[in-house]
Amino acid sequence: MSTLRIFDTATRSQREFEPVRPGHASIYLCGATPQSQPHIGHLRSGVAFDILRRWLLAQGYDVALVRNVTDIDDKILTKAAENNRPWWEWVSTYEREFTKAYNTLGVLPPSVEPRATGFVTQMVEYMQRLIDAGFAYAVPGEDGAGSVYFDVAAWNATEGSDYGALSGNRVEDMEQGESDAVGKRSPQDFALWKAAKPGEPSWPTPWGKGRPGWHLECSAMSTYYLGGEFDIHCGGLDLQFPHHENEIAQSHAAGDKFANYWMHNHWVTMAGEKMSKSLGNVLSIANMLEIVRPVELRYYLGSAHYRSVLEYSEAALTEAAAGYRRIEDFVGKFEGVEKGQWTAAFEDAMNDDIAVPKALAEIHTTVRAGNKALGEGNREEAERLAGAVRVMAAVLGFDPLDEQWKDSGEESGADAALDVLVRAELERRTTARAEKDWATADAVRDRLAAAGITITDTADGPTWSLAD
Ligand SMILES: [Zn+2]
Repeated sequence: MSTLRIFDTATRSQREFEPVRPGHASIYLCGATPQSQPHIGHLRSGVAFDILRRWLLAQGYDVALVRNVTDIDDKILTKAAENNRPWWEWVSTYEREFTKAYNTLGVLPPSVEPRATGFVTQMVEYMQRLIDAGFAYAVPGEDGAGSVYFDVAAWNATEGSDYGALSGNRVEDMEQGESDAVGKRSPQDFALWKAAKPGEPSWPTPWGKGRPGWHLECSAMSTYYLGGEFDIHCGGLDLQFPHHENEIAQSHAAGDKFANYWMHNHWVTMAGEKMSKSLGNVLSIANMLEIVRPVELRYYLGSAHYRSVLEYSEAALTEAAAGYRRIEDFVGKFEGVEKGQWTAAFEDAMNDDIAVPKALAEIHTTVRAGNKALGEGNREEAERLAGAVRVMAAVLGFDPLDEQWKDSGEESGADAALDVLVRAELERRTTARAEKDWATADAVRDRLAAAGITITDTADGPTWSLAD
């Protein structure tokens, strides 16, 4: 029996996982800032840490996973304004798209999914603690607005401070990526709370009206649900600095122990380029699902080690889909086979910092052994191996016999029956048209349209589809 070791970004080493509370695992994952259609770069962290969660669950942990929604930020306000829509409608629309994408890919729903705007009270409390401790200061703005900044120099001068340790940056080199604001004592200071500009949404605080700074929300939400000390903080590699560095600074400065392990997933790239807006359109979830089934996309996104770059190509995607189908074909030969026991090699792989490529290799080895046993007429052994494949595939979130994925490869009986009936109608229409009986042809088309069926005439004859 091996035990789970995870690569902790903060110490740059693999550390054995020792939870704060035995038998419990508390995880905070920085979620989406929904302002456009989700693409595979967005969904990779959801899938990667869903695998971590499923592995902890499989080992009997009671797992709490908090994944936030950043429902207010500059980009959301800008895009909503450009499109002449209320910001709250804009963000809610794309939040639903993200939820749909997570569900489509079989990412287990988080234990709770808090929104930044619902946590203003907790943020005010956090800022008060930081101001009282001498690590934050308020800067009044115009018309009753006000900002609050974190004082990096004050924190840095304190014994036990560790600013820059997570990302390995020197304090003097750090650029917060924030526009220079009036009243900020140093360029390294970052906004906990942003003064409201005219026309912007705002909430009242003792230091003036404004809106949440991005970093503060995650400290407020994680500690509200998981406590001042919790197990694992996860997110994309690009969040290491400034976001996670600043979360650590404000939480440690406020006296919280905060996260014990930091895990970061790497990017999705295409032709070596990090996901940009234009790539995001090409690699939207909707576009990917034109090429492969949801379960195959899930398999693909989880297949690389979470700390490696996932270099997208359509060839790699379809190759992954073929890999999944070999597993599906094998398990499909054993209707109703129960989940069995995973192999020792699989367990070692998962405990080795969630080494999915090794775990996948073990699943495929087991599939080959199962097919061989079947070829030799040893159905009992083959069935045992199918049970092992099922349980291992379930840990990675793509058990072919899971309710969500079952039948996803074939038409259901109802689909097949509908196809027979619609084709009969289309034949009637074709015959009527050949006889120039337009009334009958139109009646058929109208009846199908009323039933939500769209006909498209092609060179090979009419085809049908369900209208959206
Ligand atoms: Zn965050």
